[in-house]
Amino acid sequence: MEYSPLVLVVEDDPPIRRFIVAGLTSQGYRVVDVDCAKSALSHAASHVPDVIILDLGLPDRDGIEVIRELREWTRPPIIVVSARGQERTKVNALDAGADDYLTKPFGVAELLARVRVALRHLARMSNGNLETGEFRVGGLVVDLNSHTVTLDGTRVHLTPTEYRMVMVLVRNAGKVVTHQMLLSEVWGPGLTDETQYVRVFMANLRRKLEPDPARPRLLLTEVGVGYRLMDE
Ligand code: CA
Repeated sequence: MEYSPLVLVVEDDPPIRRFIVAGLTSQGYRVVDVDCAKSALSHAASHVPDVIILDLGLPDRDGIEVIRELREWTRPPIIVVSARGQERTKVNALDAGADDYLTKPFGVAELLARVRVALRHLARMSNGNLETGEFRVGGLVVDLNSHTVTLDGTRVHLTPTEYRMVMVLVRNAGKVVTHQMLLSEVWGPGLTDETQYVRVFMANLRRKLEPDPARPRLLLTEVGVGYRLMDE
């Protein structure tokens, strides 16, 4: 029998928890569900989940603290669940080590899409093909060995900074990358408030990589949070 990934669901609101569990089990995922931070930490250790879905508003502890504690010893993708309008909280969660987020209310299709992205990312990490090989989506090919980028077969010239930015996005393909993550990975630590650098370089990248830069299909904006390079 094919391996069925295990998802740990941490959510204290019973209707939302039942909705998430039903959505996941309908697709064949194995699910363990808990309703507080304490159980989340103990089940993460005892069950070794492939993906963790974590509500940030838990009764016993702040979700950001839970992420930091998990990240001290475990690497499975963490998808946080937050309320609409809490951009700052989402950004803090991502910078603390979460991989992606769902904003309430969300539909089952969105939930399943996020889980698939997380599992693809996990597979790429364990195959080691994030450092070598090729990343392809649509007509875009990023060759990680030769550091070349082609679009519909035509070589695209990128500046070194643009290429570093593409690499950060490719390593996190499908997932959201915060402004802060891009700044520190591309420009190094210390430029914490210079998010306009990121905007300027993203505009340049879109001009080079998007057929219609005003309506991006590859390099999507996550409002108030960062960017997402689509991976399918
Ligand atoms: Ca909650």
